[in-house]
Amino acid sequence: PIGLLDGRIIDLNEKIVEMEDRGYQFGDGVYEVTRVYNGKPFALKPHMDRLYRSLRELKIPAVYTFEELASFHERLIAESGYTDAAVYLQITRGVAPRAHAFPENMVPRLTMTIRPSKTNVELQTSGAKGAFVPDVRWLRCDIKSINLLGNLLAKQRGKETGAFEAVQIRDGIVTEGSSSNFFIVKDGVLWTHPVSNLILRGVTRTIIIDQLAPKLGLTVIEKGFDQAFALKAEETFVSGTNTEIMPLVRIDAATVGDGRPGPVTRKLIEAYNEFVIKECGA
Ligand code: PMP
Repeated sequence: PIGLLDGRIIDLNEKIVEMEDRGYQFGDGVYEVTRVYNGKPFALKPHMDRLYRSLRELKIPAVYTFEELASFHERLIAESGYTDAAVYLQITRGVAPRAHAFPENMVPRLTMTIRPSKTNVELQTSGAKGAFVPDVRWLRCDIKSINLLGNLLAKQRGKETGAFEAVQIRDGIVTEGSSSNFFIVKDGVLWTHPVSNLILRGVTRTIIIDQLAPKLGLTVIEKGFDQAFALKAEETFVSGTNTEIMPLVRIDAATVGDGRPGPVTRKLIEAYNEFVIKECGA
């Protein structure tokens, strides 16, 4: 497997992490995951825009232009030969003797990996299982920080009950999945948590709201709702770069709708696939 370190293609077997990288010691860094379809990065611009925002919020200098980051993606795709893949990009504040406050003159460190990735169409067709779990994360979930312990604990807790995704609850309100955004279809209308410090503004979420819903004539309500409301929905699904759109047909012991992916979710999946083809080709 290959990767990229500060602009240079590397073998992942090279031992490149320095012990005093602040990403390693503090989780002091940010990341993005971008899908590659047909050998082309999908929605790279919104992913990199969100990366720049995360960096800004953490006062990590942005030392690479969009064009440079785009070329790094292209190089990893070309070198790997993968057509369907996920590119992981991480920027940490850099390397310095351990101290909590930001040291001066830090040089951020960029690392990237590329791995094959394919959508689980079978699961998308049958529908997956969800599990409600408490949202124990910090109050800046809008930053795509590499500190993911809260998300990890949620996913693991879900996995232990056989769930594909954990759906997190904070103060009685459904926030988002452990690595996805959460939507319901209630009386034919799409509902999802509003953009705030309590969720990550998913690129897939934005595509659903700005591109797919209008195309399908769906109304979207961005408003918090509780677990009971979610369980009264006709349909529920999660969205994410790797997940795409995944119907949740059971959550804990409850069946959602008739226990199969519903018509609205299926139409959204179809519209999403068309959108991917329009952007990246077949
Ligand atoms: N929320 C969280 C917590 C996530 O980790 C992800 C996946 N990165 C998402 C939402 C979905 O974001 P996106 O659609 O940009 O992948």
